[in-house]
Amino acid sequence: MEAIAAFLPELPVDSYTFIIFVDDLREIGQAFTGKIGLGKRIKLAKKFGNLGLGALEHGNSSTYYLGDFGPGLDIEDLSLEGQLTGAAIHEFMHIVTPLGLHSQHIGNFNYTNPVMSKHLWLYEGITEYFAHLVKYKGGVYTPDQFLKEMSLKFSSGVSFPIQEMSFTEMSANVLQPKYEKHYGQVYQRGAAMGMLLDAEIQRLTDGKKELIDVILTLVNRYGAEKSFDEESFIDEFVAEVHPDLKNYFTLYVEGKNQWKPNDQLIGMKVVYYDTLRENSLLNPLSPYDNEIRTSDSKGGLEKTITQVGSGEFVGFRPGDKVDVLEFLKALKKPNGDPVDPDQEVIVTVIRDNQPKKLMFKARYGMKTKVHVLKWIQR
Ligand SMILES: [Zn+2]
Repeated sequence: MEAIAAFLPELPVDSYTFIIFVDDLREIGQAFTGKIGLGKRIKLAKKFGNLGLGALEHGNSSTYYLGDFGPGLDIEDLSLEGQLTGAAIHEFMHIVTPLGLHSQHIGNFNYTNPVMSKHLWLYEGITEYFAHLVKYKGGVYTPDQFLKEMSLKFSSGVSFPIQEMSFTEMSANVLQPKYEKHYGQVYQRGAAMGMLLDAEIQRLTDGKKELIDVILTLVNRYGAEKSFDEESFIDEFVAEVHPDLKNYFTLYVEGKNQWKPNDQLIGMKVVYYDTLRENSLLNPLSPYDNEIRTSDSKGGLEKTITQVGSGEFVGFRPGDKVDVLEFLKALKKPNGDPVDPDQEVIVTVIRDNQPKKLMFKARYGMKTKVHVLKWIQR
């Protein structure tokens, strides 16, 4: 809430209630920790997929269905805090859109014969983008964390079948199965498109306007009670910025063209790479990369080393038992960042039934990454 208060000129409501139900999903949590067999794991994963975890927004409240997956789960997004912070900002920001800015199809929603609006790029895409922008502007994310989160949106977003259907077409027809199966992209490609739109607005106005300024102007014009016109809204939006903004909508929102992120991102001093090969501090080389062979023991995360290659640098020997999770943890600082190059790292293995500490130095190397966003050095 403090991050939201730092982002918005004023909070849009005087009071707001988060209604949260936490389900006991510790059994499903085991599917992620690998302490069970594959057959059971697949069954649990299916159960997880059918649960419908999620949230729903209202004007002065939002409701959440979250899961307690138990202790020892090293997946941040599945921690209770991760689930809640991921969803809560998004749901709160729905006060802005669609609750405060929507077309007549939503304002006078026909519950008998629903007519879907083509503007999911606005209602969900921009909301999800704002959820991350709020964390960045509100100091929850570092600038680099923000770009890392957004690069995941680009990474998922490229798989939207843009040659087949435009984003507005998917949105307007989302009740048909052919389109519905791509609905999840409103949170992925939609959020990435929100960032591109923000960058394009900043580029065309020389940084005088940002996306949130345009949105809040339109919220002030319409608000909760009045609907904008479904068909002319994009023109109205463009009129708030610059005539050239129309091209962005024509090509990438209403059109079937694959995005060219760098055409817009320059406006936010960010550059996008399809692939980037770099000497990466984020990827400490692990002898697991290719220098050792292991066999599973007890079917879990404990591995027995069977063979060691010449590039091995930890000090493993065949027969050592290693806990993979513990090993990967040893390569991280307590705050989750990777250890510094050449920092001494200690990992404990079981050798001849005795715990043995191995001390080694972290190494870094060239790795190829895909869909990378970087700040342009200023
Ligand atoms: Zn939403």
